[in-house]
Parts: sequence; C-alpha cells; structure tokens
Amino acid sequence: MANVSGTEGKAKTQPNQEVYDVVVVGAGFAGLYMLHRLRAQGLKARVYEAGNGVGGTWYWNRYPGARCDIPSMEYSYQFSAELQQEWVWTERYATQPELLRYANHVADRFDLWPDIQLNTRVVSSHFQDRDNMWQVTLQGGGRVRSRYVVMATGCLSVPNVPHIEGLADFQGAVYHTGQWPHEGVDFSGQKVGVIGTGSSAIQSIPLIAQQAKSLTVFQRTPNYSIPAHNQPLTAEEVADVKSRYAQFRAENWARGFGADFRDNDTSALALSDEERTAEYEDRWAKGGLAFLAAFNDLVFDDNANATAREFISNKITGLVDDPDLAAKLTPDTPVGCKRLCVDTDYYATYNQAHVLLIDLREEPLQKIVNQGVATESATYEFDSLVLATGFDAMTGAVSKIDIRGVQGRKLADKWAEGPRAYLGLATAGFPNLFLVTGPGSPSVLSNMLPSIEHHVEWISDCIEHMTKNQLSLIDAQSAAEDAWVDHVNETADASIYPRCNSWYLGANIEGKKRVFMPYLGVPPYVAKCKEVVADGYSGFALS
Ligand code: FAD
Ligand code: NAP
Repeated sequence: MANVSGTEGKAKTQPNQEVYDVVVVGAGFAGLYMLHRLRAQGLKARVYEAGNGVGGTWYWNRYPGARCDIPSMEYSYQFSAELQQEWVWTERYATQPELLRYANHVADRFDLWPDIQLNTRVVSSHFQDRDNMWQVTLQGGGRVRSRYVVMATGCLSVPNVPHIEGLADFQGAVYHTGQWPHEGVDFSGQKVGVIGTGSSAIQSIPLIAQQAKSLTVFQRTPNYSIPAHNQPLTAEEVADVKSRYAQFRAENWARGFGADFRDNDTSALALSDEERTAEYEDRWAKGGLAFLAAFNDLVFDDNANATAREFISNKITGLVDDPDLAAKLTPDTPVGCKRLCVDTDYYATYNQAHVLLIDLREEPLQKIVNQGVATESATYEFDSLVLATGFDAMTGAVSKIDIRGVQGRKLADKWAEGPRAYLGLATAGFPNLFLVTGPGSPSVLSNMLPSIEHHVEWISDCIEHMTKNQLSLIDAQSAAEDAWVDHVNETADASIYPRCNSWYLGANIEGKKRVFMPYLGVPPYVAKCKEVVADGYSGFALS
C-alpha cells in the first residue's frame, strides 16, 4: 500500500493514534466517491460520518415528498460505466428512499464499508506545523492523524433551526425537514403547522395536507415553483439514455448548469410576446428546473427575467382559486434569485378548505407558545410543527468544525467576513485540506452529482501528483485566492442572484456575512480547474 504520510518514525504519534494518508469527513455522495478514488490509488483513507448511515442529504432528509429535482438519470454517478448501466432508476425524479438505496448500493458494490466509521462526528482538525500533519479529533475524544483532510461535509447538511422565542415551550411534536425521524410521521387527524415555503416545504406540504386534519403554512417569502410532472421512467427511456450514456453525460457537462436543461441561446427579449410565451408554455408543460434555461438572459437581465415572472405569476393566479391567496403566493423577486422550486400540486393544495396560508409579512410571527404559533394577529394551535426552515448553507458544516491551519490560525477567523477559497477547493493557510463543492465553486448552482465527481477527481489527481513527485505540502496562494473570490463576486454581481435574500448569500442565517457563495458557470469553472493543473497547479504553492 502506498504511503504518502511519510511519518513512520518521525512524528510524535500518541500510542494507539492511527495515522492515515487521508481523512475524509462525511459519507454522502462526495465522501463515498472520494474514498473509492483514494483506495484505488492505494492510499490509507478513513471516512468519518456523523450519521448512522451513508447517503448524506438522502440519509437525513426523509420528509414526505423528498425527491431530487434534477432527473435521476443525470443526478447519479457516472464514474463507473458498469454502475450506471446496472442501476435502474424507476422515476424521472427519484424519491429519497430510492436515492438512499442507491447510496447504500454504491457502498456495497465498491466494498466501501470497512473504511467508513459511522456515528462519528469530527469536531476539530488542527494542522501541526512541526511535521505537516493534520490532527483530527473525533466526538468523544478519539484522535487520528493524516497527511490530507477532505471536507466532504455537504453544502446543505446543517439544519437551520431559527431562533423563534418560545420554540422550546411548544408541547406538541417539532420536526425539522432536514432531520426527519427515520420511522416516518403519521399526521392523520392532526392540526399541523409548517414554517417555511422553500423547496423542502413545497415538496412536503401537498403530502402533509393529504394526511392532516388541518394544515397551516407560515410564509415569510413566497417562492416560484415549476411543476415536476414526475412520472415513472419507461424501459424505453432508460434504454435510450443508457445506449448513449457517456455522450449524454459529456453533452450535459458542457452546459451552463451541468444538466440537460435544453439551454436556449436566445434572449427572452428577442422574441415576440407570443413566441416567448410559447417557449414558457412548453417548459411549464415539460416541467422542472429547465424552465430557467428557457432563455439565455433570464438570470442576467431584469427585463428578461420580468417576462418569466409575469408568466409564472399568471400560472399561480390560474392555479389558486382565491385571487387574494394567489397574490400572497406570488413572489415579487426575480425568478431564480432564490433557488427555483419544483413541485407536485403545491399551489393547488391551497384550494383545499383545511389548508390555510398565513402571510407573515401581513401578520409577523411573534413567538411560539405551548399550544402553537402566535402572530401579531392571532394564535394558531397545533399538534405538530414542521420547521421547513432550511440550512446554514455552504459553510455551515465546515464552520462547525474547529479547523486550525498554519500557526494555529482559525478558519472561523479567516472566514469571519465571508468564506474565501481558491476555486472552492482549498483555502490559503490550510495546507493539504480540500473542500468538495466548497464556496467559490458552482456546487449548488449546478447538477451536484457531476460537480462532486469533478471535485473528487481533481482532488485525488492532485494527491496522486503530490505522491508521484514526492511532494508533501500543497497550499493555495493568497493572491490567487483573492483574485478568484473577486471573480466569483463580479460574476454574481452581473446576475440577478444578489437581488434577494437567499441562502446563496447566507442571508437566511442571523449574523452571517452577506456574501454570494457559489460560482455561476460550470464550463468556465471546469476550464479554469484544468488550466490550473496544466500550469503545474498555478495559484498553489507545492513543496
Ligand atoms: P451531503 O449529502 O450533505 O453529505 C455530507 C455528510 O457529511 C452528511 O452525511 C453529514 O452528516 C456529514 N458531516 C458533516 N459534518 C460532519 C462532521 N463534522 N463529522 C462527520 N460527518 C459530518 N442537488 C442536486 O443537484 N439535485 C437535487 O435534486 C438535489 N436535491 C436536494 C434535496 C434536498 C432535500 C437537499 C437538502 C439537497 C438537495 N441537493 C440536490 C443538494 C445535495 O445536498 C447534493 O446533491 C448532494 O447530495 C450533496 O452530497 P455531499 O456528499 O456533498 O453532501
Ligand atoms: P430554504 O430554501 O432556505 O427555505 C427555508 C424557508 O423557511 C424559507 O421559506 C424561509 O423564509 C423560511 N424561514 C426560515 N426561517 C424562518 C423564520 N424564522 N420565520 C419564518 N420563516 C422562516 O430551505 P429548504 O426548503 O430546505 O431548501 C434548501 C435547498 O435544499 C433548496 O434550495 C435546494 O437547493 C435543496 N432542496 C432541494 C429539493 C428538491 O426539490 N430536490 C428539496 C429540498 C431542498 P425566507 O425565504 O423569508 O428566508
């Protein structure tokens, strides 16, 4: 087995302290593939996962209706031709149980389990200047050392439980969509309150409404949602994609979002009203996130975006019987500025007599009381309360770990004014530490599965390069990092994304610095990553 640690006989290792080439934090899709790649290189790697299973997002988010909103044939691994041929997706958008089965199948198929330690949260990771090793501390006090650390901790893995006065006093059951009970929840006969109207709420509300005696939704900001038109995949559809899978993947990766959104390279403003509406109608009828790729300027030009706003607003008016209610459900922000949602019967759910929408802009939420939720106008009583209140996105999981780099510098201090990372892969002053889909990479503005694979392959190739060239330290250079962060911000500023309060900006978390975190544009990003490698890892210092 190759050893890149080079520590035997050198480092002051505590007795029983295991030494690894690479520690990987997290066993979602990123951590699983990272482990597979590292093992193929003959490295000694260990994955630590806080949960009691693999699958990350699909392990934790078990709320009713949870499913992907990128078609499953694309939201899946492509690193193994055998895997992608043998696995059969049953629906256009796979459900959470199916995605979780897939993650477990991958762990079985590639025999990953022996190197994954479940129920083990990483609490700190300290770089030790004396021998350029990372000391990783596990919850409960265990410690290991490794040459490299890979944070595969997820962009949306730390649930946001808002600080609402009295939450602890509520006497019914409280659920967060991102920490849903594994045994499921039966809302039959219950009065249920849901706080939030993001993707998780929009997926779960129609199903909770089917069970509950009454459902009250507390909406602070309405969201745009496009119908999913989810359906079973036919054998012919699956066979067609599988007959040209590699080409299909390559074509999609070359598109702006890294998915087949049928990108239309026409301005929304170049067409007549009838032509433009026909395009929107076609996309609405086909459903899904491809709506946002109807025209090439929807996320860059306010006037173009306004045409999409008008179209969706008219659809909401058509779907919701009560015009006042339709008006409350209609956003006044640019389409796509907050993550576009994809639903099954979301708007129509509000036509049911037992479903009530409370617009918190009209009657602000005051506090939670023993029996329910108090707004400035009334108190609403519930048996159960669902917090569909999202995540501390992009930086939440990494920031929860006490990470210290060269000379003990804390990552929390470095990122106090917003995250700074070179290509979203590494952050200067924290050598040999890699981030998968970190801030400054397309990540959440892309089909995440191929973005994860791209990062995992970049990182494992980099480690291989280090080993082959007998190098032991790689660190991003501050100048390159600053230039990249500036570029990420300039790109965002030229778009509609900073025009509303979204988790892309950290605006959903009290006290979090407002900084646009993902990078807009898969193809230029991929080209830049390739160029960096071709130039001998330009922007990194290797020694
Ligand atoms: P995760 O799946 O989040 O896994 C990270 C893992 O790290 C978690 O299991 C966590 O427990 C673990 N971890 C974190 N910190 C520690 C620590 N300190 N110690 C030990 N373990 C730790 N993306 C898409 O592209 N398409 C979709 O349709 C889509 N749907 C989504 C639906 C939901 C409900 C959510 C929440 C997200 C969705 N996403 C989607 C984004 C999704 O997060 C990614 O697609 C992908 O699953 C992320 O994989 P990951 O391995 O990077 O992170
Ligand atoms: P989210 O988009 O951040 O939505 C959270 C909701 O809670 C928002 O409506 C927010 O209102 C509200 N909220 C938060 N704090 C509140 C408070 N104190 N009082 C009242 N309302 C409050 O989170 P999410 O729905 O979990 O989705 C997060 C991301 O995960 C998505 O954008 C997507 O990327 C991914 N996801 C994907 C799918 C899918 O379809 N495949 C499903 C779920 C999640 P404001 O808008 O006013 O802040």
